[in-house]
Amino acid sequence: MADRKVVIIGSGPAGLTAALYTARANLNPLLVEGLEAGGQLMLTTMVENWPGFRDGIMGPDLMTEMRAQAERFGTEIVQGNVTRVDIKNRPFTLTFSDGKTVTTEALIIATGASARWLEIGSDRKLSGHGVSTCATCDGYFFRGKPIAVVGGGDSAMEEAIYLTRFASKVTVVHRRDSLRASKIMQDKAFANSKIEFVWDSEVADVLDEGKGEVTGIVVRNLKTGHQSTLPLDGVFIAIGHTPNTALFKGQLELDVNGYIRTHSGSKTTVPGVFAAGDVQDHVYRQAITAAGSGCMAAIDAERYVEGVAEHHEAKDAPAHVSN
Ligand code: NAP
Repeated sequence: MADRKVVIIGSGPAGLTAALYTARANLNPLLVEGLEAGGQLMLTTMVENWPGFRDGIMGPDLMTEMRAQAERFGTEIVQGNVTRVDIKNRPFTLTFSDGKTVTTEALIIATGASARWLEIGSDRKLSGHGVSTCATCDGYFFRGKPIAVVGGGDSAMEEAIYLTRFASKVTVVHRRDSLRASKIMQDKAFANSKIEFVWDSEVADVLDEGKGEVTGIVVRNLKTGHQSTLPLDGVFIAIGHTPNTALFKGQLELDVNGYIRTHSGSKTTVPGVFAAGDVQDHVYRQAITAAGSGCMAAIDAERYVEGVAEHHEAKDAPAHVSN
């Protein structure tokens, strides 16, 4: 017998929606909230594209509400760092950093993906105050203002092109002299008159920590070492995401970028293990799509658990004796 029918790892929109649905299905879910509790919405300010809030809602407030709603229906939430997962044997076993373990029949992985940062200090400090890792979330706040996008991949081009709807000018800062992005995205970006490129350069600093808002960036040319300041109002960092899948490497099929491969809804390559949200989606990456896939994972897990129960009932039923 497993300790739990369902355990959910991750407490962003995907994990909390999976918790809400499995709790309302009387599965008494345990949700493990990791170090980045609440997920990426905890790093944003106003969320204006979550349906139902005509004036928007602050990211952390939305997560507080989702958490309370999941708890209201009986979700048990624990803070903990899962250091090991065994999904090769049944029931599945999760081991926490303090050595405690929990076993479960079904597992929903909603560990998300973490946006990569420049790791220069000022970028993270000004996050939500002019520095963003999500153009769809925050582009609207930069109407008529000059901004920069850092990166040379498809995400950077997509974000730069999208941001030209709002910004007066978008400067793409890339560390090499050619883009990594696909040809079609490159062509679109080059053809856009609002986009300018600064090549062979890195962002050495985001100004102005003292003021608590973005007033510019210090750009360093990596070939000449020359530094210059570019005045602007916002910086979008698009240097990729890292899916939080280290725990599952070698146990589940991942794609080349490390995202969990799902099929037929939220199913992974291990029956009974489901994945939802950004940990399995590098295309849409929205809070609302994460929540939707959390709902799918909950329904898939519920059907799986019912199937396991039916299997046990059939096995334990007394053999029919005819007279
Ligand atoms: P990516 O392809 O890994 O590109 C990351 C970019 O950021 C690269 O140009 C890289 O520079 C740069 N970079 C990485 N670390 C950096 C650092 N510390 N400082 C400065 N620059 C840094 O990531 P992505 O653009 O997020 O795309 C991820 C995957 O999703 C890709 O397979 C992509 O094709 C796909 N995607 C597709 C679409 C689409 O088709 N519409 C949209 C988005 C994403 P280097 O080039 O020098 O390595």
